[in-house]
Amino acid sequence: MAKVAALIVAAGRGKRFGGDLPKQYQTLGGRPILRHTLARFAAHPDVALVRAIIHPEDRDLYGAAAHGLATLLDPVEGGAERQDSVRLGLESLTDFAPDYVLIHDGARPLVDGALIDRVIAALADHPGAIPALAVADTLKRGAGGMIGQTVDRAGLWRAQTPQGFRYEAILAAHRAQAGTVLTDDAAVLEAAGGAVALVDGAEDNAKITTFADLERAERLFRGEGEQRIGSGFDVHRLGPGDFVTLNGIRIPHSHGLVGHSDADAPMHALTDALLGCLNAGDIGRHFPPSDMRWKGADSAIFLHHAAALITALGGRILNVDITILCEQPKIGPHRARMSARLAEILEISATRVAVKATTTEELGFTGRGEGIAAQATALITLPF
Ligand code: MG
Repeated sequence: MAKVAALIVAAGRGKRFGGDLPKQYQTLGGRPILRHTLARFAAHPDVALVRAIIHPEDRDLYGAAAHGLATLLDPVEGGAERQDSVRLGLESLTDFAPDYVLIHDGARPLVDGALIDRVIAALADHPGAIPALAVADTLKRGAGGMIGQTVDRAGLWRAQTPQGFRYEAILAAHRAQAGTVLTDDAAVLEAAGGAVALVDGAEDNAKITTFADLERAERLFRGEGEQRIGSGFDVHRLGPGDFVTLNGIRIPHSHGLVGHSDADAPMHALTDALLGCLNAGDIGRHFPPSDMRWKGADSAIFLHHAAALITALGGRILNVDITILCEQPKIGPHRARMSARLAEILEISATRVAVKATTTEELGFTGRGEGIAAQATALITLPF
C-alpha cells in the first residue's frame, strides 16, 4: 500500500474576519478551524503522516489547536508565499520518503474521508489529482460594474484541495518553480509537464475565507447530529511476569501480558471501538507495532488519540462498555478504579464507563489461562 503524507498549509496571515487571529485559528464549533482539518487527516486510515506548515509567530496558537492529536508530526515553518511554504513542507518530508503527498488548505475543515479516498485512488494512474467542482453558474467578465463579456463555462472547474501528487514528482516540480508565483500546487506540477487528473470535489469542502463562509460552515457543523456505534476486540497472551495492566490499572498476577505496548487488552479493545465509530481504521493502523515508538507504550496514548479524533470532529462520547474475559486475576476489586481511569483519559464521567468481567468457565484459551481477551462497545454522537 502507498505511504501517504498530508501537508496542511496554515502559514497564512489572513485575518479577514476581524480580530488579530489568522482565520485558520478562528473557532468553528468551539474549536480552532485548523484543529478540525488536522483531525480529519489524522483520522483517515490511509494517511500515515500529517504535518502542518505554520507561521513562525503562530507556535502557541498551533500548540493549542493540535493539543492531544498525538500522531501529528511536528509542524514546520512556512515561507514568504504559499508556494514557498509548500516547498519547505515538501522538503521536510524527504526523510519519510512518502509515495504520495496530499497538500491541503488549513482553512478547509469540512473535508471528508471519501473525497480524500478519491484523490489517493487517482494517484495510482496519474502523477497528480485534485478535487474539483464543475462550474454551474454562467460566468461574466466584469468591467466598471458592467458586463464586459460572457465567458463560456464549458469545461471549467473550481479547484479544491487536498491536491494529491506523487511525492517525488511534486518535490522536483516545486524545486524547479521556486521563486515563481503559481496559484496552486497543481499549477506547479502542470508547469513541470505533469498530468493532473480531476476527481469529484464537494461543496462542503469550501475554503473559509469570509465571515459568511464561517457562518455557513458553522451551520453545517452544528447541523443535526447522528449517533455512531463501534465495537472492538483484543487478546493478549499471558507469559512470564508478575503483573498485568488492565484498563490502565496495574494488578499483581502470577503472569504478565505479552505485547508490543503495555498489552492492555481491554484498553486496546476500547480504542478500536472508538475508532470504529469513526470508521477510522484500527489501532494497528494508527500505531503500527512495527514502529518502535510504541514499544512498551502506555496504552492511554492510544485511547486518548481515538477520543481526541472524536472531539476534534465536534463529536461526543455517550458511553462505553467493556467486558474482560479471564479466569484470573479477579477484576471486581479493581473495577471502580478502571472506570475512573478510563473516564479520566476520555474526559467523560465515570458513570458513562462500564467495566465488566466474566470467566469463560475454564473453557478455551482464556479458561486455560493462556491469555486475556476483552471486548468493548462505544456510542458517540457526531455533528453530521
Ligand atoms: Mg492489543
